[in-house]
Amino acid sequence: MTHDLIHLSAADLASKLASREVSSVEVTKAHLDRIAGVDGDVHAFLHVSENALAAAAAIDERRAAGETLGELAGVPIAIKDVLCTLDMPSTSGSKILEGWVPPYDATVVAKLRAADLVPLGKTNMDEFAMGSSTEYSAYGPTRNPWDLDRIPGGSGGGSAAAVAAFEAPLALGSDTGGSIRQPGAVTGTVGVKPTYGSVSRYGAIALASSLDQVGPVSRTVLDSALLHDVIKGHDRRDSTSLTDDWPSFAAAARAGLAPDALKGVKVGIVRELNGEGFQQGVKARFAEAVATLQAAGAEIVEVSAPSFEYAISAYYLILPAEASSNLAKFDSVRFGLRVTPEGGGTVEDVMAATREQGFGPEVKRRIILGTYALSAGYYDAYYGSAQKVRTLVQRDFSRLFDEVDVLISPSAPTTAFPIGEKVDDPLAMYLNDLTTIPANLAGIPGLTLPMGLAAEDGLPTGLQLMAPAREDARLYTYGAALEQLFEASWGHSLISQAPHLEYSEQTAATEGVV
Ligand code: GLN
Repeated sequence: MTHDLIHLSAADLASKLASREVSSVEVTKAHLDRIAGVDGDVHAFLHVSENALAAAAAIDERRAAGETLGELAGVPIAIKDVLCTLDMPSTSGSKILEGWVPPYDATVVAKLRAADLVPLGKTNMDEFAMGSSTEYSAYGPTRNPWDLDRIPGGSGGGSAAAVAAFEAPLALGSDTGGSIRQPGAVTGTVGVKPTYGSVSRYGAIALASSLDQVGPVSRTVLDSALLHDVIKGHDRRDSTSLTDDWPSFAAAARAGLAPDALKGVKVGIVRELNGEGFQQGVKARFAEAVATLQAAGAEIVEVSAPSFEYAISAYYLILPAEASSNLAKFDSVRFGLRVTPEGGGTVEDVMAATREQGFGPEVKRRIILGTYALSAGYYDAYYGSAQKVRTLVQRDFSRLFDEVDVLISPSAPTTAFPIGEKVDDPLAMYLNDLTTIPANLAGIPGLTLPMGLAAEDGLPTGLQLMAPAREDARLYTYGAALEQLFEASWGHSLISQAPHLEYSEQTAATEGVV
């Protein structure tokens, strides 16, 4: 029973909860047991909530009393540690915030509670969301449930691994350059970076404010849509929050199940996002995905976005510039850690010692790079040029979206790499986000869904869909349509093929490839 509950989608759990076939306490307990069983190996969580069962019991009581509850009422959820939570420490993966309990909930967390979801705990991440493997977390790496010696992606590796390991049916992530989509790709899960400004950033510990977006992580496209419906919408506390009336994303995902959902849809393959350096097995699965789209009646065109060649370089100037400014507030006075140098010292000495001890090497690297790029003598050459490239990326996207409804690419150039392989090679690490960064620079939405296992290593690959700003609904319709077609051709969902961790009732099911 317990094991059945952890394998259900959020949508299925929600309907069993609504019909009172199961209680939220049972569902929550099943997930807490799973966390207790496997998280010693996976290390998806930095903190497990002490309040989850009480929250679940309160929801069960309100349901029993006949109250109208949210659509996902009683469903547990994991929360990336970049988000502020009133009742749990929020460290953003950094020692400088160790043990810090915020005095308020992030807007998205408040929305989860208002919609009657049950927060299970906080998930591991690269420090301040800088990284692609979760190895830059100050609290040790998260491991990929498909192969515990490999990375789960980053920076939101904890959220993706929690969902892939059946420790949570849903999670929240944040995506500044790919931190929802790349972990989704390498763990065989679904994740969405919403349109910039459509989900509140209030209470999300800022990395690069012009790029950051909070978004859903799940095992199915519909589940991400249901979660996106809970967290979307205007927030007066976020100055870049959009005031749009968003359509129902769940309805958009359900529309994708219609037999002709992909008929006549114009799909652009971005030449620059599927080239040299991509793993053979990723390319092969991508070619199959294109064939699937074609067979479903979509019209495929190959398109080119020349500016994308410079997107990573521009991103790695804009992001550090914004991060260096955002991270200036960690000064030993207001938050977390305070280190007094031996023998005492001035306020500046305390700040310097605190930042020296509290920040890890990747964070320091980016602060130095960002401060340099913003310095008077170099501002135009670096930051200014990067902003020009950003404009070109935006123009390339808008030109392409005049021609096509949706753009596709692999979500990541390779499958999950071994822990340790790239940790000392920042440039190799940065290349993981080749495919995801352009969407952040332009503010457009992107979704990743599993597109099969790579033949050479049996590990998951992801397909990325991108739509124009504000057209997130398209991603859910086409994403759900594709998910249905892929699963029909494989005969099962991809995640059902994950080698179940030894604590599960099911034993390793992977034989070769899907
Ligand atoms: N891996 C990217 C980086 O290191 C993306 C980070 C993110 O999306 N938060 O910057």
